[in-house]
Amino acid sequence: MSGKGRGTSLLWKIGIGFVLGIVFGFVVGPMVPDSPVLKDWVMPALNVVGKIFITLLKMLIVPLVFASLVAGSASVGDPKKLGRIGVKTLVLYLLTTAVAIGIGLALGNVIQPGVGMNIEGAAATAKEAKPLADVILDIFPSNPLDAMVKANMLQIIVFSLFFGVACIFAGERGRRVSDFFGSVAEVMYAMTHMVMALAPYGVFALIATTAAKYGLAILAPFAKVIGAVYLGCLLHAAVVYSGLISGYCRRSPLWFFKGVREASITAFVTRSSSGTLPVTIANVRDNLGVSEGVSSFVLPLGATINMDGTALYQGVCALFVAQAFGIPLDLGAQFGIVVTATLASIGTAGVPGGGLIMLTLVLTSVGLPIEGIGLVAGIDAVLDAARTSLNVTGDTAVCAVVAASEGETLAG
Ligand code: ASP
Repeated sequence: MSGKGRGTSLLWKIGIGFVLGIVFGFVVGPMVPDSPVLKDWVMPALNVVGKIFITLLKMLIVPLVFASLVAGSASVGDPKKLGRIGVKTLVLYLLTTAVAIGIGLALGNVIQPGVGMNIEGAAATAKEAKPLADVILDIFPSNPLDAMVKANMLQIIVFSLFFGVACIFAGERGRRVSDFFGSVAEVMYAMTHMVMALAPYGVFALIATTAAKYGLAILAPFAKVIGAVYLGCLLHAAVVYSGLISGYCRRSPLWFFKGVREASITAFVTRSSSGTLPVTIANVRDNLGVSEGVSSFVLPLGATINMDGTALYQGVCALFVAQAFGIPLDLGAQFGIVVTATLASIGTAGVPGGGLIMLTLVLTSVGLPIEGIGLVAGIDAVLDAARTSLNVTGDTAVCAVVAASEGETLAG
């Protein structure tokens, strides 16, 4: 990731870990119940390796985001410029999310994944979603240390922005403070590269565990809904992100997807936008050449509120549930899904399964039975992998566009 040669070979190793993990999981998965060695030793060991990788990534998040955002916002220098970057980012995030739901709904209508489903025995397992007012109130921290201890990303972002801008207002002494956090951020980037050296093993362990758990037999009845979500994610990336990168940034989509590959794969296997954040920031800085001022703000915000994949999945799943329960959804109801799913995706936590919880909000808003959650829950991890990967890739695409719009010269 840092040196070109080292980065390329690490990427290969991650790719190999990913493919081997899938093959291993699918082949070994069916043997697990009958083999004490696999059941009691191999699978638990893989589980531990995967969890260590995720934990190490999480370890980086709070100091990395705080230090880089303080240094980044102070380096932008002008609070007005920060505001402009903020508005552009929010508008792009909202627009790309709305398009994603449109794609999800279109595929849900065409593929009709829920038609003919057997809904007997479905049970609701999701927790209640948070009310919208609480989501808004939760942005403001009463105690910044508490926000950091709980890794509450939006609160950390708000405090860091205040802190960085205050460094500018505090003159020479403030500059010394922001310089210090600039150095802390560099140390955190170096630490990110150290953790990423373990990625091939972490990726192998995580994907092998998932593939062994789900196996092809469990997935077969859900082939249509899985196919719709995966196809939707691919289409959204191919059309919307490629369009933005080639149309606006004047760079080849291949350059872009190659540059953010590590983040996309890490998101796929960890199923967490927040957990992937250190890798996302490193890729965008190292490979796309985006400045700290833009990336330190746009990416943590994106990991928290920009969820194109989640929104797309909610569109597909709403139709899936409606079809499975035989409830027709007219165009008005489908428009309602666009609005609620956009809001729901903003409120979704960037953690595994966050989108499933918010699906309750979408289903109830259009009068669909919450029991529908039970239909999706069994295979949610498989859908989560694709949607999280799209969530993270979407953050990086918007980051590149915002950087280009601020006159930055992208790498490559
Ligand atoms: N796992 C997703 C993410 O972290 C959120 C979701 O469940 O949709 O981005």
